[in-house]
Amino acid sequence: MHRTYENEDITVLWDSDKCRHAAKCVTGCPEVFDFNRKPWIDLKAAENKKIWETVKQCPSGALEIMYDHGIRVEYDEKGDCIRAFDGERQVGECDFRDTGDAFNIYHTEVDPEYGGKKIARRMVFRALQEAERRKKTVIPSCSYAAKIMAEKN
Ligand code: SF4
Repeated sequence: MHRTYENEDITVLWDSDKCRHAAKCVTGCPEVFDFNRKPWIDLKAAENKKIWETVKQCPSGALEIMYDHGIRVEYDEKGDCIRAFDGERQVGECDFRDTGDAFNIYHTEVDPEYGGKKIARRMVFRALQEAERRKKTVIPSCSYAAKIMAEKN
């Protein structure tokens, strides 16, 4: 399961397949990380510094944290894609096709000017989250999406 959580400054990604429940998150910052709540991560419940330090304690790599750099990542329901924006300017796109049985992520691209900000990673996680919501098998035709899905626990 892939999930993304955001506040005005940071994004936290969670890959439940990597989570070993070593519980560093829930003991380090229980106001933010609470498995008994939905959504289980609330990035508004503590200072970013404390969240950052807690995520860095995750022993499995299930949690990742990054600055947003002012970039919004949004699901475009009409276009059936994920888009990234800097203000009004679109700076990235992750395209997928729902074929009924499967969810094919076939293209991910970020404006080279915006490289190194983990925008593609945020978009692919958001696309995977949408595929999981639809209960579809994912076909990662896009090599970057395939790379993320192949990450080992
Ligand atoms: S610290 Fe990481 S591995 Fe442990 S419960 Fe939290 S997310 Fe899972």
